[in-house]
Amino acid sequence: MKKLTQADVEEAAERVADLISFLPPRLYGVPSGGVPAAYLVQKALFIQNASMSEIVDDPQDCTVIIDDVIDSGRTRDSFRAKFPGKPFHVLFEKKPGDDWLSFPWDETSPLASAWDIPIRLIEFVGEDITRAGLKDTPNRFLKAWLHWTSGYKQDPEKILTVFQQEGEVYDEMVFQGSIPVWSTCEHHLSPFFGLAHIAYIPGQKIVGLSKIARLVEVFACRLQIQERLTAQIADCMHKTLNPQGVGVVLQCRHSCMESRGIERMGTITTTSALRGAIKEEPDARSEFLAFVRGSEQGKMI
Ligand code: ZN
Repeated sequence: MKKLTQADVEEAAERVADLISFLPPRLYGVPSGGVPAAYLVQKALFIQNASMSEIVDDPQDCTVIIDDVIDSGRTRDSFRAKFPGKPFHVLFEKKPGDDWLSFPWDETSPLASAWDIPIRLIEFVGEDITRAGLKDTPNRFLKAWLHWTSGYKQDPEKILTVFQQEGEVYDEMVFQGSIPVWSTCEHHLSPFFGLAHIAYIPGQKIVGLSKIARLVEVFACRLQIQERLTAQIADCMHKTLNPQGVGVVLQCRHSCMESRGIERMGTITTTSALRGAIKEEPDARSEFLAFVRGSEQGKMI
């Protein structure tokens, strides 16, 4: 990102003022960045020829349209189509691949710039951002995305509350089936969802039962692919609990795939990650897979 100084934008405004000094000076600034840009051009015109120009509220009344930056060119194209013949000038022209420009009047907090993302997306697909139904969409979109990616802020190893086994030791398989999974595919930023079936054979430590579902959620609330999500759950349990074995099976439906080909509707992708005894000992492996099958029959996606 290139941070522009006040001197940068004033110099750019002087260049625009040079180009338009022959016109009757009625300036319209495209909301929102074009508004401060128009005032800067007004100031430059005054310095150049001591004439007062006017900032107008309605593009219909103006002689020149001012914006801060040309990005995709969509804004300029739509103004040219609506107001043919009216010159459209910008302080800066950004070409594809150029650095993102930050203006002195931009809010620089990440949340403020994130606000632009849904607005630009809505415009990109050809919708009208001012339509009543879309008014609160950017707000809702950001809230939802903060939830879907909330796993980055949490430490998965801390989620697993571990109890040390003393005296009587439980060393049989512990299985939890049909744990809901909701995650986001990193290739399409679209949801994939389904069920996790998870087992471990304790060593010296056992884990609070509700914590396994929490662990799934922490890894799922990140940008993922199903294969990595499966492996991360298994590896984290293996590392934190130091058990004799871990088994994780995920069965998910991918909306990126299903939404674009009707013949693929309902396709379930299965991934597994086995560690220690559940991977190496045939009996433990069969026991785990029998539990998974039993769980599948109990609850279908
Ligand atoms: Zn995808």
